[in-house]
Amino acid sequence: MKNETVSTGSRQEIKDVTGVVRRAVAESGIVRGLCHLFVPHTTAGITVNENADPDVKRDILLALDKLVPDDPDFRHDEGNSPAHIKSLMSGSSQTLIIEGGELELGTWGGIYFCEFDGPRNRRLIIRCQGETAAGELKMI
Ligand code: ZN
Repeated sequence: MKNETVSTGSRQEIKDVTGVVRRAVAESGIVRGLCHLFVPHTTAGITVNENADPDVKRDILLALDKLVPDDPDFRHDEGNSPAHIKSLMSGSSQTLIIEGGELELGTWGGIYFCEFDGPRNRRLIIRCQGETAAGELKMI
């Protein structure tokens, strides 16, 4: 299992962590299997989405703000209820397929760490399991 630190720089941010996860897969030596990602935070998340046009990330945050505006009826005393709700919308985990030693992300897919209550240093937990090129079962 790998624990990666993801440093976010603003209150809300979608950060591309594709390279971090690809590196973990490459270092694992696993060529066929699964890569599990988990964000152990309740105001952040992890998702896969288009990684070609940077405006997609901006538009996602804009839409989430419109869907989940701050509401004076929220009771949570930390004052960050929108961040908790956006976290559940993005989800806190992803399972990706490893084939040929590479992550299957489609043509345009990237892995996005979603920060909704930053800036902070966050954790991204990566666990990969599957077969090596020698046909041995391995898990990191
Ligand atoms: Zn809270």
